[in-house]
Amino acid sequence: MTCSHCNEPMDACACPRDASGEVLLAKDQPVRIRVEKRKKGKHVTVISGIDPVASDLATILKKLKNACAAGGTISDGAIEIQGDHADRVQKELDGLGFRSRIVR
Ligand SMILES: [Zn+2]
Repeated sequence: MTCSHCNEPMDACACPRDASGEVLLAKDQPVRIRVEKRKKGKHVTVISGIDPVASDLATILKKLKNACAAGGTISDGAIEIQGDHADRVQKELDGLGFRSRIVR
């Protein structure tokens, strides 16, 4: 059996897959970026829609934190970056293959 996406044998296939075992590429994930205002007027950039099985949220969080030079965390399956970094985050996600949308 070969993978229908990369045509490699299943053991050699490294395509990202979701919890049901279906191939789910970064570009096919409906990623949304929004900036929320939290307590004391602090802004948080929230990135949702990244599949936690097909993609490694911890690695993405680390990259986004570096890119924005800001703190961040994973909360309820969404990545949160402190501050308003929507544009920077979108550019970074672009580089990782995600097609994200900024929701304002
Ligand atoms: Zn594959």
